[in-house]
Amino acid sequence: MQTRIIDGTGLARRVREEWRERAQALAGRGCRPGLAVVIVGDDPASRAYVRNKIRACAELGLHSEQVELPAEASEAELLARIAALNADPAIHGILVQLPLPKHIAAERVILAIAPEKDVDGFHPLNVGLLATGHPRFAPCTPAGVMLMLEREGIDPWAKHAVIVGASNIVGKPMALLLLSRGATVTLCNSKTRDLAAHTRAADILVAAVGRPKLVTGDMVKPGAVVIDVGINRLADGKLVGDVDTAAVMGVASHVTPVPGGVGPMTVTMLVVNTVLAAERACEAGRPKEPAT
Ligand code: NAD
Repeated sequence: MQTRIIDGTGLARRVREEWRERAQALAGRGCRPGLAVVIVGDDPASRAYVRNKIRACAELGLHSEQVELPAEASEAELLARIAALNADPAIHGILVQLPLPKHIAAERVILAIAPEKDVDGFHPLNVGLLATGHPRFAPCTPAGVMLMLEREGIDPWAKHAVIVGASNIVGKPMALLLLSRGATVTLCNSKTRDLAAHTRAADILVAAVGRPKLVTGDMVKPGAVVIDVGINRLADGKLVGDVDTAAVMGVASHVTPVPGGVGPMTVTMLVVNTVLAAERACEAGRPKEPAT
C-alpha cells in the first residue's frame, strides 16, 4: 500500500488564506480580531510556541499582544492581567501559555478567562459545551486534526478511532470531536493493557503521548489513517513524533509527519478561533435593526 504523507504545513497555509479574508472583512467593519498571548517565565519551548502564534496573527492581519510576566510573578498578578484583558474590547481571544510555574494553579487561571474569549477551549464551560455536542471553541490541536481529516476526505462516520493519550488538551477533546462525527472511540492511557491490541483495531489512530516510537509498524492495521500529535526532541536535537513513521510507511493509508503535520494546524486553529470570537463579539455589539 502506498502511504500518503499529509502535508500539514501546506494545508495550514491554505486554511489561513481562507480565514484572512474573514478577518479582513471584520476589520473593515471596525472589528479587527485581537489575540492576547500571556506567557509567564522564560521557558524556551514556550517562547518558541508563543512566537509562532504571534507570527500567525500577523500573517492574517490580526491585532496581537504578548503579555509577559516574570517566572516569580504571583497568581494574583496573573489573574489581574487576565481581568484587564477580559474587559479590553480590542481583545477577542486570550491564551495563557502552559505550563505555568508550579506556584500558580492553572485551573484557577483558566477559570478566570472569560469563556467567550477562551480561544484555547480549556475553560470548563467550553469543555462542557463540547462534551454536550454544542462546541463554542474546540481546543486547537484536536480541532486541527478534524479539519485535516475533512480536507483529506477522511470521514470518521462509523469508523473505529483509537486515541492513545487522554490529556485534557489533546486526547479527551479529540475523543469528543471524533465521537460527535459518528466514530466509535477508544481512548487509551498509560494504564491501558495490551495497547497494541487496541491500536491494531483502529481505522483512525491518533497518537498523543509524548514518547518517541511508541507506535510501531506492527501496531497499525493495514490501511489505517495514522495521526501523530506527539512532539519529542531527541538528544541530537531532532524533532520526532510518537509514531515510528518509517515503519508505518506501506502499512498505513495516511500518516502525518513531525514536524510539518499537526503542529501547523494547531497554530492555525488558534487564529481561526480568534476570528470566530471576534465575529461573535462584533455581531453581539451591533445595533439591532429597528422593528418594522
Ligand atoms: P500529557 O503528558 O498531558 O498526556 C499524555 C497522555 O498519554 C496521558 O493521558 C497518559 O496517560 C498517556 N500515556 C502516557 N504513557 C502512555 C503509554 N505508554 N501508553 C498509552 N498512553 C500513555 O501530554 P499532552 O499535553 O496531551 O501532549 C501529548 C504529546 O502531544 C506531547 O508530545 C506534546 O508535545 C504533543 N502536543 C503536540 C501538539 C501539536 O500541536 N502537535 C499540541 C499539544 C501537544
